[in-house]
Amino acid sequence: MAFIYHEVFDGRGFSKISSSWRRYSLARQLLSDVGFLPPVDAPDVSAPLESYPLRVVRPDAASDDEILRVHTPEHLARVREADARGTGFLDYGDTPAWRGVFRRATLAVGGTLLAARLVAGGRFRCAFNPAGGLHHAQRDRAGGFCPFNDIVIAVRCLQSEFGYRRIAIVDLDGHHGDGTEALLYDEPILTISMHRFDGRFYPRTGSPSDVGRGAGFGYNLNVALERGTDDETYLRAFDRWVAPAVRRYLPQLLFVVVGADSHEADPLVRLGLTLDGYARLAQRLRTLARELCDGRMVAVAGGGYAPEHVARCWTVVLGCLADAWLPGDPRLAALFAADRRMTRAASENPLEHV
Ligand SMILES: [Zn+2]
Repeated sequence: MAFIYHEVFDGRGFSKISSSWRRYSLARQLLSDVGFLPPVDAPDVSAPLESYPLRVVRPDAASDDEILRVHTPEHLARVREADARGTGFLDYGDTPAWRGVFRRATLAVGGTLLAARLVAGGRFRCAFNPAGGLHHAQRDRAGGFCPFNDIVIAVRCLQSEFGYRRIAIVDLDGHHGDGTEALLYDEPILTISMHRFDGRFYPRTGSPSDVGRGAGFGYNLNVALERGTDDETYLRAFDRWVAPAVRRYLPQLLFVVVGADSHEADPLVRLGLTLDGYARLAQRLRTLARELCDGRMVAVAGGGYAPEHVARCWTVVLGCLADAWLPGDPRLAALFAADRRMTRAASENPLEHV
């Protein structure tokens, strides 16, 4: 499995929650601690790279032409100008502008393009871009910490470069994937989003009654969840709505937004998934990909604002997708226990963990 990585990911992120920017370095450390990646600081030259379940692959920035497959020239110019200005916002006040944001945004897109090309080209069965999943970006504007929509840009690449016609997107981020939905609403690309929805929660869209239009009619599926939705309820909804829709669709590739902000400890979303829930979801996704499309899966991270929990979530999910956990693996049990301890401590001392 490919793990897309660039040192820029370790720096400033797109969100306003600066404490969350550490999630990339924390995840890489944890993945190396459990033996999925080579040691971060002191490469172990004695162990061949093939002995690790994840292989680090470095992306290039996406080109203007690649971004313009989805976005307007005005939007591309606006992000570039905001980068040069270095202050203000890329949108109406959600996504800050700063010197370097353009490079990070184009690397995030380049990472997802690389992941898609590695999988569709047969180099890897599965690839993960921790900087991808920027699902709130619309054709002509940024939104919700998302400058460019790497998911739909990668869909365009899979269509034009590899001739794919049936791509299933399963977005497990706690927020509705509104940009992805809008960009693909008229097309028969299966676009599924499971998210907290009550008509007020950001981005307010994502009603189950929005099912696509024209050639896309029936290909947009919104699964609305209540605040606090626990593992069992979440998995029941996945089994009832998501898995059958993906099976009926017979995708050539499964595109997954992991969405660590559906975790019970996430400060922005307040859904109720635990690490065990994520592990069971990841197993279901892996099974679907194997059954339907020879295991081909592109995974991108999406949100997640409690960085220690995010690092554990990605580690658990990637281990499942890469088949790297042993039966009854003590490393997995230790991760579950550490995660529960931290969630419990936060709920007993809420002010210390805002
Ligand atoms: Zn989110």
